[in-house]
Formats: sequence, structure tokens, C-alpha cells
Amino acid sequence: MSEYDVIIVGSGVAGAICADRLAAAGKKVLILEAGSNGIGSAQREQYRRVWDPKTPKSWNTPYLDDVGRKFYPSPSTNDTKYFDQPAVDPANPNDDATSLRTFKAYYQRLLGGSTWAWRGNTPRMMPNDLRLASIYFPDGSYPDGADVADWPVSYEELMPWYLRAEEELGVAGNAEEWEQLTPRDGVPYPMPGQPKSYSDKILVSRMGELSVDLDGESLPVRVFTMAQARNTRPYQGRPACEGNHNCIPLCPTHAKYDATIHLRQAVLKGAEIRTAAVVVRVAQRGDDGRWEVTYKNWRSERPKESSETVLGDRVILAANPIETPKILLMSRLGGPHGQPQSVPQSIPDGDTIGVHVQGSGSVRFLGIDSPEKAFEVPGSGGQIDLGSPQWEAYLHRSVSTPVRPFRT
Ligand SMILES: Cc1cc2nc3c(=O)[nH]c(=O)nc-3n(C[C@H](O)[C@H](O)[C@H](O)COP(=O)(O)OP(=O)(O)OC[C@H]3O[C@@H](n4cnc5c(N)ncnc54)[C@H](O)[C@@H]3O)c2cc1C
Ligand code: SF4
Repeated sequence: MSEYDVIIVGSGVAGAICADRLAAAGKKVLILEAGSNGIGSAQREQYRRVWDPKTPKSWNTPYLDDVGRKFYPSPSTNDTKYFDQPAVDPANPNDDATSLRTFKAYYQRLLGGSTWAWRGNTPRMMPNDLRLASIYFPDGSYPDGADVADWPVSYEELMPWYLRAEEELGVAGNAEEWEQLTPRDGVPYPMPGQPKSYSDKILVSRMGELSVDLDGESLPVRVFTMAQARNTRPYQGRPACEGNHNCIPLCPTHAKYDATIHLRQAVLKGAEIRTAAVVVRVAQRGDDGRWEVTYKNWRSERPKESSETVLGDRVILAANPIETPKILLMSRLGGPHGQPQSVPQSIPDGDTIGVHVQGSGSVRFLGIDSPEKAFEVPGSGGQIDLGSPQWEAYLHRSVSTPVRPFRT
């Protein structure tokens, strides 16, 4: 059985940065990863060759033909086999309300993880995001079915780590725009932000001095440029964005960050990577407190019957918010008897195995300054939120004058 200081399960951005930092500190590091792709420029180019001629295209297109796919299906919209969640109505499997399609978490099982496909948007949580219970439900009475808790850390405590993460990824952003929403104590982003796009400019000019009324207070609506892990100048050996590809899923030039950057650095510092290794169990030994990590190697002749085990002083589960709880539950770790708990039970215990996975609102991605409340948009009939079709219809109406892309 081979032995390590730290075994990291999963090679996405979380696992890759941990591996790089630990290897830099002289630790003997092993990364176990279910995927089996390469992380060099030849692999990137091969994915690009798959992507370019395909129609239609999706965030998953370059990766669907990977050799190991059948061993680790991807939970994309159309994949109904991955989850053990039978459709309520088999005769109507595409009905969002009753079928497997209700679960649409996108992630990549690749060496480098989901950053092979991500958009690169890097907004921070707002200070209030971490205090939802005490700010919005100070008397502790939640709406039916709600599961709300404050985080055990504050925005102020997170701030230095945000700054470090932005350095690691190489984030471009307009600090003066974001300072008021997500304070940064005047620290600039590592790179200046992207310039406003053509459609941004049109939107800004058509919105004019638009404001919304919230609890009697008139608040201006502003369009921000999204902070992004996309180079606006050469950064740490990678080129500036050339602005002429699609970015999602694949940046051919490496101007957009992905975790292969930290994986390559980690390997150069001595970290070992084992691919095609699907971890099925972690267990702490009673005698010396060290951890045994068991995985199935799907390249082996009999992957179902055989497994391999490695030993580490520490284990980091970085397999993402879906797969990490799954490994913990399979290992009977976390929560009483390995069962998930509710959010208010879990967070104070520091045990997040049962925390409900939530999508982040389109509000933040739109980059529109919105409090975490629905409010009335001028011209609409009632209270709506910014991610709703009504809001989109409103924007559409407000830019309904025909727009020509170029002056003629
Ligand atoms: C299309 C798309 C767009 C996105 N856009 C954005 C964006 O703009 N901004 C943003 O902040 N986020 C975005 N995200 C989300 C973001 O990419 C992820 O949240 C982030 O990359 C997750 O990193 P991670 O390291 O936690 O997990 P992952 O990147 O999912 O990595 C987990 C790794 O663990 C491996 N693994 C899983 N189970 C096992 C196992 N049992 N054994 C061994 N290995 C295992 C997987 O193969 C994977 O490589 C996007 C995601 C997608 C798919
Ligand atoms: S170089 Fe192209 S693909 Fe890469 S970030 Fe820029 S526009 Fe996107």
C-alpha cells in the first residue's frame, strides 16, 4: 500500500489548488481523479478539434467522446441514467416537474474538473449572503419548507481568502464597481476589468436613470461588468484574451483560467496524479488515525470486482458538492449514522454533508445590483425577481427600438 502525507480526491479547482499549495510546502501529495484526460496543450487542441465542427454545441460537447465516459456518466440535462431517481411519471420523462430532468447540476468528470467548462465568472458572495437567517428572519420563523442558516464565517473573515483566490485564478474586474456590493478595502483586482460590451452599452444607455422602489427607498439600477478569471493582459505565463472564441466551454489559448494550471504546477512540485481512479470509500484506522482511501480503477480488467487502497495522514475530499457527500455517505461518515441532516442542524456542527445544493441566482450573473428580494419592476404587474421571464420581457421592451450592430 503506497503512503502519502495528503490524499486529495478530485482534481477540480478545489483539489488542484490544495495540491499545488501542499506540494509547495514539501508534502507528499496524491491526487485521485475519476477522469483520465490529459492536461497539456495537445489535449486542449484535441478538444477544440472536437468542438469546432459540432452543431449544435453545448457546454459538454468537447468532452462527450472521452474514453472513460461510460464508467462515469455526466449528469447533463439529457442524461437520465446517472441518478437513482426514478421519474414520477415514466410516460412523461421530460416533464421538469416529475422527471429526472428536475436535477440539472452541471459538472465535469475530468482531470481539471468543471473548470474545463465553466464561464469564468467570479463574483463574490455578498456580506448578507452569509447572514440570511439573522437578516431576513431575525425572529427565527421561516416560511414553510425553508431551510435557512447563517454561515459560521463572516464576509470580513473571508475577504483575505477571496483576495488570494483572485490572485491564484487571475481575476480581471473593475474594483470601483464592485467595492460597494462586495467590499475589497480598495484592493484592485489582479487585472483591470473587461471593457463594457456593445450590448452592455446599449443596455446602460436605454436604462438611463432607472431606479426601483424597495420598501419606500428608491434604489438605482446599475449594470456592472462581471469580474472574470479571464486575462485582460498577459498573466502568469498565459496570454491576454483575444476575444474571438466562445469561452464556454473551452478557451483554446488558456486566457481563461482552468484547473489544469494548478495541476501542472503541482506535478512540477512533486505531486502524483492517478487517473481513472473512482474513490468509493474513506476510512480512518483505529490504531494510528491514518486514512485508507479505496478506489476502483476503471482501466483495470475487472473494475467492479477489484479495488486499490492507499494510505494517507490526511484526506481532502474535493470531489464537488454532489460527489463529496456521496463518498462520505458511502463511507458512513458525516452526520449521525452517515445520514444527511438539515441545514440548521448541519452548519453549526461544521458538518455540511446534508446542505442542500443550490444554484446561484441569475441575478448575480447578470451583474445587476439587486438586493436579495423580489421587487416591482416599472411596467410589470407585481412583485417579481430579476431572474424571471417578466424581467427579461421588461428589458426586451426597454430596448425594443431596432438596434443596428454597426453604423451605416
Ligand atoms: C458550464 C459551466 C459553467 C460554469 N460557470 C461558472 C462561473 O461562471 N462561475 C463560477 O463560479 N462557477 C461556474 N461553474 C461552476 C464551477 O465550475 C464549479 O463550481 C467549480 O469548478 C467546482 O470545482 P470543484 O473543484 O469543487 O469540483 P469539480 O470541478 O466538479 O471537480 C471535482 C472532481 O472530482 C472528481 N470526482 C468526483 N467524484 C469522484 C470520485 N468518487 N473519485 C475520484 N474523483 C472524483 C470529478 O471527476 C472532478 O474532476 C460552472 C460550471 C459549469 C459546468
Ligand atoms: S481567448 Fe477566446 S475563448 Fe479564451 S477567454 Fe478570450 S474570447 Fe474566451
